[in-house]
Amino acid sequence: MAKLTDPVTILKGVGPTMAKRFAQLNIFTLQDLICHFPRGYEDRTRLVTIDKLEVDVPACFKATVMNTPRTAHIRKGLDITRVQIADHTARLNVTFFNNKFAAEQLRYGEEYIFYGAVSGDFVGYSMTNPVFERLDAQPIATRRVLPIYPLTAGLSNAAVLKAVRQALSICDPPAEILPESVRREYGILGADRAYYAIHEPQSMAEAEMAKKRLIFEEFFVFSAGLSLLRAERARKTAKPYEKLHLQPFLDSLPFTLTGAQMRAIDEILKDLGSGAAMNRLVQGDVGSGKTMVAAAAAYCTVQNGHQAAMMAPTEILAEQHYHSLSKLFAPLGISVGLLTGSMTVKQKKEVREAIASGQAQLIVGTHALLSEATVFRDLGLVITDEQHRFGVAQRAKLSAKGQDPHLLVMSATPIPRTLALLMYGDLEVSIINELPPGRQPVETFLVNESYRARINAFIRKQKQEDHQTFVVCPAVEESEELSVKAATVWAETLQQTVFPDLRIALIHGQMKAAEKEAAMAAFARGEADVLVATTVIEVGVDVPNATLMVIEDADRFGLSQLHQLRGRVGRGGAKSYCILTSQNRNPDTLGRLKALCRTTDGFRIAEEDLKLRGPGDFFGSRQSGLPTFRVANLSMDLQTLKDAQQASAHWIDTEGTAETPEGIALRARIGELFTRAEGTMN
Ligand code: ADP
Ligand code: MG
Repeated sequence: MAKLTDPVTILKGVGPTMAKRFAQLNIFTLQDLICHFPRGYEDRTRLVTIDKLEVDVPACFKATVMNTPRTAHIRKGLDITRVQIADHTARLNVTFFNNKFAAEQLRYGEEYIFYGAVSGDFVGYSMTNPVFERLDAQPIATRRVLPIYPLTAGLSNAAVLKAVRQALSICDPPAEILPESVRREYGILGADRAYYAIHEPQSMAEAEMAKKRLIFEEFFVFSAGLSLLRAERARKTAKPYEKLHLQPFLDSLPFTLTGAQMRAIDEILKDLGSGAAMNRLVQGDVGSGKTMVAAAAAYCTVQNGHQAAMMAPTEILAEQHYHSLSKLFAPLGISVGLLTGSMTVKQKKEVREAIASGQAQLIVGTHALLSEATVFRDLGLVITDEQHRFGVAQRAKLSAKGQDPHLLVMSATPIPRTLALLMYGDLEVSIINELPPGRQPVETFLVNESYRARINAFIRKQKQEDHQTFVVCPAVEESEELSVKAATVWAETLQQTVFPDLRIALIHGQMKAAEKEAAMAAFARGEADVLVATTVIEVGVDVPNATLMVIEDADRFGLSQLHQLRGRVGRGGAKSYCILTSQNRNPDTLGRLKALCRTTDGFRIAEEDLKLRGPGDFFGSRQSGLPTFRVANLSMDLQTLKDAQQASAHWIDTEGTAETPEGIALRARIGELFTRAEGTMN
């Protein structure tokens, strides 16, 4: 017997070349191979007679070869082999292109199983390039449910299939980690059967069962992991803050906080005074004023003699927070520091000294805060802004710089409850469901290309009123496949043909971080009239002077993403607009975009989005902070997610520490997940 940790090269037929190809798919060990799940299946179990074959519907049938195959050499690189086959119902002419194997293997008078689709019209049916197997051969491509694997160059589906089959025959599949009670209650296949059935299902129904089990398992492990984290944190104590008096802070604000902001602050103060370490997520729509809530928590922390750190995902966002918070806190005698990667060595050294001595009381920064060189004198509160860009692991890393500091996580993306549980299952949640008074909703329109001249005129009008415009395109380079308007090309067109007299700037994801920051900062200073961008502008940068957001080919974005983008305007006093363009004529697609024109409630939009696209795509894969789910991405199923969450919560409460084989294996797997997540979570 082989072990799961053995390299794939121990398989027959897998040498260094094949191993390299497998490595392309991140497959190194037998375990990786066995966990390389099919992305779909083809049902080839149905056996029909030739007369029952339907045009363009592939099926299996048994037939006899009626003549010796003839190959004609048409030209260099093109050989055509023709053969006639038949069963008791009909004859069929078959053609193979460049298939020496068929020409050699098919013997006159012998019977084979074929799989293919007929094409043709009333003149006669024919079939091109069917696959075939001898009756006595082990079914690989016919008479079965065929798994379809994700592939890479030089690695065929048949090769993966053969390797997986061999692996499963020489080693045991991964151990069972789902407790028996859970499997019974939710009707879940056991691991031993599931790992075979996902690769070699007897029927489509069995493939479904196997998939369901593996999805359930992934969700179960992840939510059990989060629950354990949460339980562990709940045991951590923190010295309760004694000074919970915010009046001087509230008095210094130029506005009154909204009821929702006050509620969130109250919940935070309760945590800070409780004696346990706070773990709280503040969720609020764009512009709902989360920064002030974080500022209140920081103020309270500093009053109690500790330091607070706020981590933002980009330099520009960190700088913005730094400027607004230092202005706010200076009159209150609180010193605010800034630490970002692009500061000079000398500047960084100075700030780090101030952080280490405790002279800096609130420190705003980027990932630079996480570096080992940053040492806090007494870190009492960790705040992460725009959380979905950070993962559990980074959160933990910053927290480790203090002694069980309080944790406050801010997310601008309203997340449906189920998904919030999955991503933030280890946190308590406060919701800010109210915008500051007097905010004018961004007026949103959906238009097609016939409005182009009017859109252009409207952009010009913003400029005449000294305002700025964002134009968002869905991709960086002109892609034939999607024929989307590329930001680069579009910026050039706008500059050269449409608005030669305006200042057009460009920002996209393939620019270096520093270039992006510079472009964004210049736009914020008013140095361009129009900023053509990809979705890199999505995260919280404030350009209050921008009043128009044009989103090209809006149907290519998710609703939540559109809502985030729209949140970039309407941040100043002036009325703001969002124009969605789309050439799409699908009524469902247009209906969805129109819904976005009607509502500005981020939570409702998020629920809608989740229903339409499933959680896998919810944030766009790149920035989700979710671990990569191997199977669940295939078809995430909300019911399975809910079941798994419920089951894992129950398991933690009842047998979470049981020393059963499943319990031990499960805890090991959870540990692995969170170490692996560290690499993928950003
Ligand atoms: P977000 O929740 O998107 O992070 P911000 O904290 O950036 O929102 O706040 C958006 C804007 O609203 C800021 O300019 C902020 O000063 C302002 N603001 C926050 N709270 C209030 C309030 N209660 N009344 C008026 N303006 C507010
Ligand atoms: Mg914000």
